[in-house]
Amino acid sequence: MQLTHTPRVALVTGAGRGIGKAIAEQLAADGHTVICVSKNPASCGGVADAILAAGGKAVAKAVDVSDGAAVAAACEEILKEYGCVDILVNNAGITKDGLMMRMSEDDWADVISTNLSSAFFWIKGLMRPMTKKRWGRIVNISSVVGVQGNAGQTNYASAKAGMIGLTKSLAKEFSTRNITVNAVAPGFITTDMTAVLPEEVQQKIKSVIPLARFGAPEDIASTVDFLCSENAGYITGQVFSVDGGMAM
Ligand code: NAP
Repeated sequence: MQLTHTPRVALVTGAGRGIGKAIAEQLAADGHTVICVSKNPASCGGVADAILAAGGKAVAKAVDVSDGAAVAAACEEILKEYGCVDILVNNAGITKDGLMMRMSEDDWADVISTNLSSAFFWIKGLMRPMTKKRWGRIVNISSVVGVQGNAGQTNYASAKAGMIGLTKSLAKEFSTRNITVNAVAPGFITTDMTAVLPEEVQQKIKSVIPLARFGAPEDIASTVDFLCSENAGYITGQVFSVDGGMAM
């Protein structure tokens, strides 16, 4: 089956590296105009430049997604320029791991605000024209850890499980507006986020992945791409595990 894409305006958070970069590049390859958001202007700028150099349409926007006021200001600017963002991918995320006994309130709050509240901020800032247009796609990046939990990641797992609750509730709220809201729950994907794991930890993780390897950012991008296509208009409120079989 060939996927159908009508050129639209897409915004991807955390588009500077890893999974978000692969998603931004895939959406641009589909013909969408992609607003690449990351914290560091050099990383989203580099991705937007590469998309432009490849003949796509992209713009970079450096925004701290954990800062509600900064996101609201960015949304206002974006809507002034583009009128409507049709596709929103909430992908930005961080880890600040530690056992609960040692986890500081700051490490809890930073992960919740960057990984979960950020999605609330972007949706609040961009939803009005999307609901008026009666077409939209929202994809929230969760994690296998949000589905299964993980020792040492209570902050991260709570944020990622929160993304699932947000997705399912919003799918119900937006269903009459022809806006689909879905989540993708990656397993272990080769990016900067997992590169920090010691080799023996990586081997241990691989031993519990049925496909016995980490995924690539493109594995997540292709699922997001499908969910953002015209073909996926009858799918909403779902969580797609892309994890080599971990959450079976
Ligand atoms: P990554 O390589 O570390 O990249 C994270 C991206 O998020 C970067 O572009 C970074 O911006 C951006 N970001 C972080 N904090 C931000 C903030 N406050 N404001 C704006 N942008 C911010 O991560 P990844 O592995 O691609 O992960 C992407 C998403 O998938 C995350 O939500 C992660 O939790 C989720 N996930 C990853 C895995 C995995 O195994 N890798 C598994 C499950 C879920 P800069 O480039 O400017 O620093």
